Amino acid sequence: MQQASSFQVVDGELKGAQYIPSPNFNQRPEGTDIQLVVIHNISLPPSQFGGGYIEDFFQNKLDWSAHPYFQTIEGMQVSAHLLILRSGEIIQFVNFKDRAWHAGRSSYLALKECNDYSIGIELEGSDDLPFEEEQYETLANVVATLQKAYPKIKQHIAGHSDIAPGRKTDPGLFFDWVKFRKQLKQLKNL
Ligand SMILES: [Zn+2]
Repeated sequence: MQQASSFQVVDGELKGAQYIPSPNFNQRPEGTDIQLVVIHNISLPPSQFGGGYIEDFFQNKLDWSAHPYFQTIEGMQVSAHLLILRSGEIIQFVNFKDRAWHAGRSSYLALKECNDYSIGIELEGSDDLPFEEEQYETLANVVATLQKAYPKIKQHIAGHSDIAPGRKTDPGLFFDWVKFRKQLKQLKNL
């Protein structure tokens, strides 16, 4: 049985989430409404979970020498508004009012630069492994909350691969859109 969301958006912050500020953000262009959610996956090192490396990466604190893979992303400055860990725990890195750096070169329904008008949500995961039930639950709850706070999001939910085809593959084939949309719909009907 789905429960009503325990999250709430207050002043661009998600109450119910842990807050770890990332320096990797700037202002959204003036007059830009939030109207899209972009779903990603990330794991550091790839396909390994835990360790706090994603959190470090988004804060520009990752020890590049800790793993050979880290040298391939050395110096990159990126972020997402939210990260959902394998446990379903959620961390906010960037205030929703600000522009996080998650999408890169992208377009959605012919509107370019998705970072300008979207909220980026990273799921701790990879293209070749299933996601956890707890992650779907948190994701559905959070997206329902965001849709209430930012009504223009409505049905505008895309994967990174949808807005940057040929360049990005996440959240990948293991992300179950049908399950996610079903859970989201149930929450909206509460
Ligand atoms: Zn991505």
